[in-house]
Amino acid sequence: MKIAVLPGDGIGPEIVAQAAKVLEVLRRDGLKIELEYAHLGGAGYDAAGDPFPPATEKLAHAADAVLLGAVGGYQYDTLPRPLRPEQGLLRIRKGLGLFANLRPALVYPELVNASSLKPELVSGLDIMILRELTGDIYFGQPRGIRTLDNGERQGFDTMYYSESEIRRVAHAGFRIALNRGKKLCSVDKANVLDTSMFWREIVTEVAQEYPAVELSHMYVDNAAMQLVRAPKQFDVILTGNIFGDILSDEASMLTGSIGMLPSASLDANNKGLYEPCHGSAPDIAGKDIANPLATILSAAMMMRYTFAREDIAQRIEAAVRKTLQQGLRTGDIAEAGMRKIGCAAMGDAVVAAL
Ligand code: NAD
Repeated sequence: MKIAVLPGDGIGPEIVAQAAKVLEVLRRDGLKIELEYAHLGGAGYDAAGDPFPPATEKLAHAADAVLLGAVGGYQYDTLPRPLRPEQGLLRIRKGLGLFANLRPALVYPELVNASSLKPELVSGLDIMILRELTGDIYFGQPRGIRTLDNGERQGFDTMYYSESEIRRVAHAGFRIALNRGKKLCSVDKANVLDTSMFWREIVTEVAQEYPAVELSHMYVDNAAMQLVRAPKQFDVILTGNIFGDILSDEASMLTGSIGMLPSASLDANNKGLYEPCHGSAPDIAGKDIANPLATILSAAMMMRYTFAREDIAQRIEAAVRKTLQQGLRTGDIAEAGMRKIGCAAMGDAVVAAL
């Protein structure tokens, strides 16, 4: 298991160090894990003048999987766009061909009160959002700001999806649904957009190959509503890049705790980049108070999706659950009266539970 580790900026190094502790335990237990570190984002700019330095690119291509902390920091906000940390993230995703972005929204019984929704609506919630990551209006050309004949300026973007792009992400969605609750809801805007009508047609075709999975379709506006009205109706949600961007953030907040949310971005061969959903949290960087659990849970997803080791993924997830059951909390998930522990102590607690 060759893993490229890219701590990045802000709290990135602190949280990644905790996930690395967990991987180290697994290595001592006999897994052949190799970790190699490189710079990404602002750290890449500081070290090599590039948010995605060539050495990092080489390492990322050679590795089986990438574990990433987060990128970004106030000090980089005035750099020209190509040198900003976020460009490092976009380039690594594109360079590795990571088209399937998986974000689970899972509510732990111990944290049910952290949700902004009523406990009965979210208790037991376990949704997987699969967002297409490399196509759609975010990448479509032409785009820009132009001046019309009448002198008025106009901003414009182009939305399209090719058949192969829809097929490959649909297959990924059905395969994931097969290993979960066997329900897949494809979200689009087929009542208005031609791209969505085509998306629906192709997803329906792909569904023929997965008779065990129950396929439904939903318009994105309704999906946004249903996610806060009755989120437990969903198992896997499959959607395009822009709708997935918005819905996955909405769904993640059902869990109430940004520090708990892992993610995976996969290519066609299950090579993946694993990272917490949150950013680099510069406001709390270096204080040993960040929650490392999203990053540790990202390592669990890595075991599940890239290395096909469901047993180890579950072992890591069980260790995280055990620390929560023990009443251990970082500040972001602590309820009034609970004892708070720091980032490194939380990492140690998961290692002990493991
Ligand atoms: P953020 O997710 O970094 O922080 C939002 C809030 O959540 C902050 O108050 C922060 O302290 C808190 N928070 C985040 N992660 C936490 C954790 N693990 N434990 C405890 N609290 C946590 O979002 P932001 O403030 O909008 O962005 C900060 C920087 O991160 C920006 O430079 C942004 O561009 C970047 N960013 C990076 C990624 C990424 O690397 N994937 C994603 C989003 C934002």
